[in-house]
Order: sequence, then structure tokens, then C-alpha cells
Amino acid sequence: MKIKTQVEIEKMRKAGEIVSETHKMLEEYIKPGVTTKILDDLAHEFIVRKGAKPSFKNYGGFPGSICVSINEEVVHGIPSSRKLVDGDIISIDIGASYLGYHGDSAWTYKVGNVTSEKEYLLKHTEKALYEGLSFIKDGCYVGDIGSSIERYAKKYKLGVIKELVGHGIGSKLHEKPDIPNYGTKGKGLKLKEGMTIAVEPMLNLGTPDIFILDDDWTIVTADNKPSAHFEHTVLVTKTGYEILTKR
Ligand code: MG
Ligand code: MG
Repeated sequence: MKIKTQVEIEKMRKAGEIVSETHKMLEEYIKPGVTTKILDDLAHEFIVRKGAKPSFKNYGGFPGSICVSINEEVVHGIPSSRKLVDGDIISIDIGASYLGYHGDSAWTYKVGNVTSEKEYLLKHTEKALYEGLSFIKDGCYVGDIGSSIERYAKKYKLGVIKELVGHGIGSKLHEKPDIPNYGTKGKGLKLKEGMTIAVEPMLNLGTPDIFILDDDWTIVTADNKPSAHFEHTVLVTKTGYEILTKR
């Protein structure tokens, strides 16, 4: 686990800012009738224009510049000619690298009017993210983050996916340690000031079980119920944390 230097942190602040700006730009286009390929193209162009690179493009062979996961799709959805329809929810995961350092942030958006169940899922997955972040400071344990997210999710009867986790981040998109959305308070690795991590609860309205589609990328819920994903890249500080992908 790396402690970042001030110079590295500055690059990560910039990468994070570009990721947030890309989200903000895309949000305006999330409407019924828009294809996910259009969103991908817009994001790609925007990130490149900011002097950065889309982190996910060709990562492990991923064909898109962003991940777009609709309704029961959890993560890693591939941009396509599929059109958004009223009532969908779409999780957009964006990564950008600036001078070799990455920012990573996912957010789930409503397309038009969604059911109250989906509203509930979005509201509580976002809250679970901030609940997890609230425990971060120099000397905290990875298990403090995971256990608080898990506790929150259980309180609201949402399924916590075990197979997909948050991660350290820096000159590589995925670094050590893993940051699971479950765990035990006071257990796991101890975080130190200067570490940078991505915290990313993925919560389901139904079962926590998932499987992968035939495209070898898209992860979906086993019961076809909707899933939400909220993620921030953060810097661990002496007394707390700084969100690098602040909205
Ligand atoms: Mg991400
Ligand atoms: Mg991530």
C-alpha cells in the first residue's frame, strides 16, 4: 500500500476533478432515447479534451471508455446502441488518468420517472457510501468502512454484493488494498494518511447474488432486480478524508 507524495496527490486531485466534471457534463444527456454509446462518446471526447485518458478504455480489453449498467446490470456494462427508456436507472462508472494518476467515480442516475423502489435503492446506496466514508481517517481499519456499509445496507434490507469491492488507487487504477463493502470493525489493514482509495458500495434491491453475461463483462443480479453503484475516490488525511471526485 502506497503513501502518496504531495506531487502525486496533486495529480490525483486533477484526475478526480476531471472525472467529476465528466459526470456533471453527462448528467444533462441522461434522458429517454439516448443511446449508451452516445454517452460513451461524449465522455471520451470530454476526458481527452481535458488532457486526460479514459482509464477503462482497453482495461483488460474493455471496449468502452466508461461503464454503463442499466437496471439489473450491476457494473461493467458495455456502451451500445441500447436506448435509455423512461423508468430506467443507469450506473455510470468513469475513470480518468491525468499525468499517469487515476480518479474513479460511479454514480447511479434516474432516467425520467422511476418507481419508488428504485428511488429508495438510489437514496440508500448513496447514503451507504457516505456512511462508509465517515469512518475514514489515519489509523482506521479497512473493516471499519466495510462493516458500516454492510450495517447500513442491512438496516434498509438491501443486498450487499460480496464479489465486487473497492480498491486502492493511484498510478494504477486498481491498487492494494481491497475495500470490501462488508467486514468487521477494527479488522483488516490499517489505513494511513496519504493513502488513496476508491470506496464503492454496490447494493441490490433483492438478492446479493450476481452472475456474468455472455459478453464476459456485464455483471447482473441473479434475480433480475435493480442494482445501484455509488463510488468516490478519496485521500486519507490525519483527521478524516478528502473526496477527490467531489460532485
Ligand atoms: Mg469505478
Ligand atoms: Mg473503482
